[in-house]
Amino acid sequence: MEYISTRNNSDHFSFKNVFLKGLADDGGLFVPKSIKPFSKDELNKLSSLNYNELAAEIIFPFMNDFMTKEELISTVSKSYSNFRTEDVVKISDLGNLKVLELYHGPTLAFKDIAMQLIGNFYQYHLGNEQKKINIIVATSGDTGAAAIDALKGKKNLNVFVLHPNNRISPVQRRLMTIHEEKNVFNIAIEGNFDDCQNLVKEMFNDEKFSSSINMSGVNSINWARIVAQAVYYFYAYFRIGNGQPLSFSVPTGNFGDIYAGYLAKKLGLPIDKLIVATNKNDILHRAISDGDYTQKKVEETNTPSMDIQIASNFERLLYDVKDCNSDVTKDVMSKIKNNTYKIDNSDLNEIKKNFTSEMLDENETIQMIKEINREFQVVVDPHTAVGIGAAKKLGLEQNCVVLSTAHPCKFPKAIEDAISKTEELPDSLKYVYDREEKFEVISNDINKVKDYVINSISKI
Ligand SMILES: *Cc1c(COP(=O)(O)O)cnc(C)c1O
Repeated sequence: MEYISTRNNSDHFSFKNVFLKGLADDGGLFVPKSIKPFSKDELNKLSSLNYNELAAEIIFPFMNDFMTKEELISTVSKSYSNFRTEDVVKISDLGNLKVLELYHGPTLAFKDIAMQLIGNFYQYHLGNEQKKINIIVATSGDTGAAAIDALKGKKNLNVFVLHPNNRISPVQRRLMTIHEEKNVFNIAIEGNFDDCQNLVKEMFNDEKFSSSINMSGVNSINWARIVAQAVYYFYAYFRIGNGQPLSFSVPTGNFGDIYAGYLAKKLGLPIDKLIVATNKNDILHRAISDGDYTQKKVEETNTPSMDIQIASNFERLLYDVKDCNSDVTKDVMSKIKNNTYKIDNSDLNEIKKNFTSEMLDENETIQMIKEINREFQVVVDPHTAVGIGAAKKLGLEQNCVVLSTAHPCKFPKAIEDAISKTEELPDSLKYVYDREEKFEVISNDINKVKDYVINSISKI
């Protein structure tokens, strides 16, 4: 499959380029040049597959120049062999709503599903290369742990993770900082997630720096992640769709996971509405409800993985809405950068054909956890509660699947606030409390971060 950049669609890229670079040199995001939907017959054939088989069928067309189908099949099965459920994900009932549990991987959030696969893509690629790769990634809490688990100890690569100091939960932090492998580096930035993300973008855009360290990225803008995440929309639909279109409610920060749902729809899956569920960092809710795409200051919430105001993947949707015109998209992105962009009415109507949105504030999130626990004796994590609450507020609970993005034990404070109970880690992960943590606190200063990276590389 051929890819282009949202800001210049005249150059073409292979999956390998797209996967290793993450972000295009012109600052745009990679998207396929064209996407061919599955036919009804093809969908029918896919419907009886187990998760791993389905993953291989959906992902392969996007990367058929990278590895063979047989290699992909074995890579998928290796990637998901350490998940704690039989078929990677699980579907449960919550009254009218269905919940798609995506947190049964090694670091307890949906990000493992794409990241375990990506870790093995790197290993496959580096098997044929001499040059060492340095992966640098920003995290609002969960990406970092998933990346480290997927990349620790792998040959010929180092992983550097930037997290916002003191703004993630202790469990989230420990899942990143207790590793002894020498290729793992944790940096706590004195700032918020958007600062971390900007630092990584700046390092990428510094051609001299990024090529000198052979830098690569696995943030949620990485197309390989999006494709891997599209798989579970298919899986859920085939298990519960009954021929009816389904809506999906998705707790959203960077617009990655929900964009994967949009990709599934473009691939022919009968999806009705994609519900963008946000916390009070609600730029995406404001954008989709009335076109207001102005950035405000990021506020800390009890759903820290969504404390974001720069929803990077939104650019991919804008590119589509702008009829795949990369010059116009580039223009829009510079307006967004200057914080002067408003989505015009015709574009907004286009967006609303596929998306709708809602926001839950802090109190509503806690109340939702409480209500669900009272009604169903189930504990959901606060991000999942935002997804559930959004579907309820919109009255879209029929034929609706909520993506449950994390295990509640990752956010003990919110759970405690809601139901005065502590949610325990699965036994296999209790060790994270006993190990020593290792991370470096660095101010929000690009030169200090670069120095740390260069020094660390020279020492190993
Ligand atoms: C990352 C994350 C989200 C947001 O996902 P995006 O792809 O950034 O929209 C939601 N919930 C949890 C638990 C997360 O870790």
